[in-house]
Parts: sequence; structure tokens; C-alpha cells
Amino acid sequence: MSEGVVWLVGAGPGDPELISVKGLRLIQSADAIVYDRLADGRLLDHARDDSILTDVGKIPGRRVNRQEDINRLLVELGIAGKSVVRLKGGDPFVFGRGGEEAEALVDAGVRFEVVPGITSAIAAPAYAGIPLTHRKLASSFTVVTGSEDPTKPDTSVDWEALAKSSDTLAVLMGQSNLRVIADALVRYGRGPQTPVALVQWGTEPYQRTLVGTLSDIADRAAAAGIGAPAVTIVGDVVGLRDAIRWFDNRPLFGKRVLVTRTRTQASALSDMLTQQGAQPVELPTIEIQPLDDYAELDGALKNAGTYDWVVFSSANAVNIFFERMQALDLDPRALYGVQIAAIGPATKSRLLAYNIIADFIPTAFVAESAVAELNALGMDGKRVLLPQAEIARDLMRAGLAERGASVHAIAVYRTVTPPDTAERLQEIISGGIDIATFTSSSTVSNLVELLGGNTDALKDATIACIGPITAERAADLGLKVDIVAAEHTIAGLIEAVESHFEEDVKDE
Ligand code: SAH
Repeated sequence: MSEGVVWLVGAGPGDPELISVKGLRLIQSADAIVYDRLADGRLLDHARDDSILTDVGKIPGRRVNRQEDINRLLVELGIAGKSVVRLKGGDPFVFGRGGEEAEALVDAGVRFEVVPGITSAIAAPAYAGIPLTHRKLASSFTVVTGSEDPTKPDTSVDWEALAKSSDTLAVLMGQSNLRVIADALVRYGRGPQTPVALVQWGTEPYQRTLVGTLSDIADRAAAAGIGAPAVTIVGDVVGLRDAIRWFDNRPLFGKRVLVTRTRTQASALSDMLTQQGAQPVELPTIEIQPLDDYAELDGALKNAGTYDWVVFSSANAVNIFFERMQALDLDPRALYGVQIAAIGPATKSRLLAYNIIADFIPTAFVAESAVAELNALGMDGKRVLLPQAEIARDLMRAGLAERGASVHAIAVYRTVTPPDTAERLQEIISGGIDIATFTSSSTVSNLVELLGGNTDALKDATIACIGPITAERAADLGLKVDIVAAEHTIAGLIEAVESHFEEDVKDE
């Protein structure tokens, strides 16, 4: 049996991209992952399919899993020879009880390593535009727990010394004692006007920041309803936020954006939205399903060399086409001499993944214009293979045939609505939607169908469409379209949405 190892890994403060390269690599290879409430669930998507995942999240106020139980679990897994990731929010050794877990592992003779993480003490202020030190304003900072009441005689935090010595304070777990902590700092000599910021859910698209002073922050926090998890930053550096905030003043920050595409395609749009600070909520209204019978495609693939052109109108078509090719023991040389067209950049890059450089990419991504551009290449008498969705618009086939091409349109995949979609949509709607995005007319039709034809639920949402055809369908179905992307790509859509919201930045 191989020797077990436990890695105490810092997951970072919230944004799943803020984990270390080493931490991510270990998640990808671990036999078992033991994780906390504050470690982001999206990190677990990287785990092996057969990894043993255990949630030991402690719900505040409820002792569901006592620390001793967690220690025992880690020791047992280690002794069983597993490679174990103990994933903890922020840094494992900053108020994470990682020290105690390490002690338990040492006592049991289980090998362990520590992978530090980005602590919320630093990340939350950073994402609020507050540097903890600054040449002119602060040359020291202290990270301190606020979970102990400073007025209790047995407190282990020397607030008097902190008030006098540390320029900046970053208080973790201080929400419930905020008032007594602020009072204590004033009593021990900090000016009542000292700026204070509370940053809740730092680095997340729903991060909230509240700024006040030692004298009023507790009242303000109560009024704004800011609770845990939050970092409280005390000191003059808080004043820098106005000038250097960068995260929560971006146009799409915090906006809940409905993303309706297939699950795989949604991720590209969602990722880009997340980069802009938005909060994508995915409703995959279309699922791509393979067909039961590929006889027709297989026949065409075996004679691929007899076509003059293959026109790929979607990345899905590319995937299925080349997967079938592999299943038939063919490789891209079967396409020797055949010209290849790709409609849209996503289709083009999907082809590149199969080492195919498209010969022709129409400048327009709208089918009507793409047909015209293809016809301009001289399609008369040409044999064209057109792998497409089962219910594709007939436009491409008809448009090419009209100009003399002999077009072989083959259905290569089917689009269906996933079964739990209607319930998921109701959930999303009750959470509120700021922006609804549509990347094809079928995403609009599917959504409106799921709503039973009644678009009231979207009447306060900004409706953004990837192009004119999609916008037309949306308008036909009763949606008021606010944004139509000038460039009909995912990036173009994001850009259009962003400029729509450019002026509209709010603060608390
Ligand atoms: N090991 C963690 C801290 C665990 S203690 C770290 O290094 O960040 C839990 C406290 O961390 C919370 O009460 C809160 O004060 C702080 N915290 C954790 N994540 C946070 C976040 N995303 N935003 C603000 N505060 C956070």
C-alpha cells in the first residue's frame, strides 16, 4: 500500500481562480477531498470522477462536524494510504484551524504538506480597492480575530496594544462584535473618524463593501444588513478606495445574467461574464444529443473525398463529424482536397482543435449573408456536404442549391430541452434576473416556451441578443429587446452589454 499524504490546501477567498497552481493540481489528482463551507464548490469540478468528496462544512452556530471528527477523518484517510486534499477557505493557517489538523496528523504519524492560500484578510480589501499598506498611510497591518468580545476579561486579543501599534487592522470573524470592537478601538485612542470598511463575500460577484468610520460603522452595517463572512478593515488606507476601486465599479459587476445555451457552450459565455464581475446564472435550454443512427453521415464520411466543400455551421457539427470520423478509423486525410468553410469563429476554432484550418470563413455570421458569401465563391456544380442540426433552418441548403450546388444536408445531432429546465428557470426567476442573454433564436423560443408563452417574468430584465435574427425572434415572442450585438459573437455580445451599462455604476 502506498503511503497516504494529506495536503492542507488553501482554496483562496472565494473566486475559484484564486487558488494556487499547486493547489489545483492536487485537487485534480487527489483520491479524497475534505472541504469546507468557504471553499468554493466550483473547485470540486476539477476533482477526479472517483474522488471521495466529503463536506465537513461547519454551519456557523451549529456544530455539525466537530473539529475532532474532521481530524479523525483526515487521519483515517491518510492511514488508508489515500492522497487527501484538505481544502480550506483562504489560507489554511490563518484562522483555519489548519494548525490543529497538522498537529493531529503529526501525532498519528501521517505525512502532510501545507499549500498556502490567498487569505481573505488580504484578498477582500484588495478587491475593494484597499491596499493594507501604503508608503504614506500605513507601514504595518495586523490580522486579528474579532470573534472574542473585547469587553470580556478573558479575551486573548490585546485591543489596547493593537489600537496603538498597528496602522491597519484586518478583523476576521468580527461581524457580531463589530460595535464593541469599534468602541474599544476608540476607547484605546483611535480617532472616532478613523475610516472603516466592511467587505462581505470578498472577490465574489456579489461582494458588498460598506464604508464608514469607527463611530458609525456598526449602525451602518446593521442598517445595510451586512453579515458574515466579512473582513473589517480599519485605518486611513480605507480612504484610498475611492481612487483605486477597480472590481466593484465595472459596468457588469454583480449583475445576475441569465445564460441560455447548451451546457458546454454556456461555459464560454459564463466565463467571460465572470471575468467582467457579473454573476452568470446558467439555464441550459438546449442539450445536444447524438442521433441513434449515423448511417447517412458514415456513408458521406467514407466518401468524403468526393465532395468539393464541407460547410460547418456550428461547433457541435464539427464535434460530431470528427468523432464519427474517428469511430470509422478515418483521419482528416479523408478530407484531402476538400475545401472547408466555417460559419463563425467558434466553429473555426473548433475545427482548429482537429487540426483543420478552414479555407473560408464568411465575414458575416448570419446565415443569410454567409450563404451569399459562399455563393460568391462559385458554387455552381459543386458537391457540398452540410452537416447540421436535425431541425436546422433550411436556409443554407436552399441558398446554395439555388445557385447550382448539389447540397447533401445531413442531420448529425439533435437539440432537446433538458428535463429539469422548467423548475430551474422558476428558481432563477425568483432570484431575480438583471440581464437575459440570447445567443440564437432557438434559445429565445425555448425560453419563452418554458415560460408558457408569458414573458412577464422578464419584463424588468435587460434583453440582450447576439444578432438581428435572434432579436427578431425575441421581439416576435413579445420581449422588448434592449441590446443587439454589432459583432455576432459571444465576445461581441459581452461588449455590447458592457457598453450598455457603462454609465450605470452604483455604490452602497
Ligand atoms: N482561513 C480563512 C479564514 C477563516 S475564518 C482565510 O484565510 O481567509 C472565517 C472568516 O474569514 C470569516 O468570518 C470572514 O471574516 C473571513 N472571510 C472568509 N472568506 C471571506 C470572503 N470571501 N470575504 C470576506 N471575508 C471572508
